Amino acid sequence: MFENLSERLSGVFDRLTKQGALSEDDVKTALREVRVALLEADVSLPVAREFIKTVQDKATGQAVTKSVTPGQQVVKIVHDALIDTLTGDEDPGKLKIDNPPAPVLMVGLQGGGKTTTTAKLAKRLKEKEGKRVLMASLDVYRPAAMDQLAVLGAQIGVDTLPIVPGQKPVDIARRAKQQATMGGYDVYMLDTAGRLQIDEVLMQEVEDVRDVVHPRETLLVVDGLTGQVAVEVAEEFDAKIGISGVVLTRMDGDGRGGAALSMRAVTGKPIRFVGLGEKMDALETFEPERIAGRILG
Ligand code: GDP
Repeated sequence: MFENLSERLSGVFDRLTKQGALSEDDVKTALREVRVALLEADVSLPVAREFIKTVQDKATGQAVTKSVTPGQQVVKIVHDALIDTLTGDEDPGKLKIDNPPAPVLMVGLQGGGKTTTTAKLAKRLKEKEGKRVLMASLDVYRPAAMDQLAVLGAQIGVDTLPIVPGQKPVDIARRAKQQATMGGYDVYMLDTAGRLQIDEVLMQEVEDVRDVVHPRETLLVVDGLTGQVAVEVAEEFDAKIGISGVVLTRMDGDGRGGAALSMRAVTGKPIRFVGLGEKMDALETFEPERIAGRILG
């Protein structure tokens, strides 16, 4: 799993004198390679720097275990530090959706996979947790997006709020809340409108909806292949709206997943799920081990 970085590091350590413990110089030399590996995996520069500092402190002076090479030992330290950063107290797959009807707000940029993820998650809640879910699209700018959610709902057997043309997002949110309460739903998911870029109007609109429904979970859906942009989007949404978790989509692509590390480090919010394709079943609970393996290459 770690051949890539291991190979690089074994090359580095071959040139170093073998000693009983990892010297500061050994570690520094090795961490230069680690830094390149992190940046290649799309981890943002400040996060990579901070991460390297932590690893450096942990690695320096560590006795080299006989059974592994110094290179393998550094990789193990890096791997463990990655898992540490990526793992929080929470169980990523367990949303806080007690006390029905629980509002779940889905936010993010247009094209990030928000509507698809809303439906995937609704299907998962229905099938794995036996929840009754209602989905509502608040994308009043794109009727096609509203239709898209209705089509997906029919496909997975999850109800969607009937579309009423001319309503504002907050009105739709209120109607969803009412219908969820009267209809005995466990969860209602609000698929908000996204834009190509973050703008004030979008943020204000999401804030207004948030203040009407007081979401139990606010999940940011973000394209995992967009690297640094994904991190900026997460920072911005967290500052303005307050997110409770992240869903990284398009992780079936060949991205290395460094954005996961950056987002966790910058926002402190958990990555909860990863999208692994366009199909309705292609959503998995986030596993730090898998991402760590991907980042190390
Ligand atoms: P929205 O504008 O944020 O609501 O984005 P959509 O849900 O409409 O998704 C945009 C496109 O990305 C669609 O073609 C989806 O099928 C696709 N998509 C969403 N999630 C994933 C994923 O995890 N992997 C892949 N390969 N495609 C995805």
